[in-house]
Amino acid sequence: MDRLWAPWRLEYVQGADEQEGCVFCRARDGEDDETLVVHRGDRALVLLNKFPYASGHVMVAPNRHVGEFGELTDEEALEIHRLAERAIAALAETYAPQGYNLGWNLGRIAGAGVLDHVHLHVVPRWAGDTNFMPVLADVKVMPEHLAATREKLAAVWPT
Ligand SMILES: [Zn+2]
Repeated sequence: MDRLWAPWRLEYVQGADEQEGCVFCRARDGEDDETLVVHRGDRALVLLNKFPYASGHVMVAPNRHVGEFGELTDEEALEIHRLAERAIAALAETYAPQGYNLGWNLGRIAGAGVLDHVHLHVVPRWAGDTNFMPVLADVKVMPEHLAATREKLAAVWPT
């Protein structure tokens, strides 16, 4: 297994506690192109990860600032699930990945960079990229320009 040094991820995880406010709340309250929001639902939103494991790595978060997985309402849980499904459709049309990993990182030890606003990762996968455990261990990073990714996915978002 190749293990690549990814200092930007490390800085991100280390700096997460020092950022002002919450990245998901800033996205909820900000402009799409500045906060890399791909789609806004009624109770949840889809945004690009600024420190992606792969091109097209998106996250689905509830609009509500909630840190406990079990505190999601039924409506939030369903909408997050459905938005993940639509993110997969948009990714399929744009990048034609061969598979996906979907996951919740709950707690710092599990890789969460933001602890108090839960979010679902949707990571597209291709043959020959790293497998899921190294992905979670912060090794593979090869993003195209994030603004370009956001525009592509927003343009094909299923209605
Ligand atoms: Zn928040």
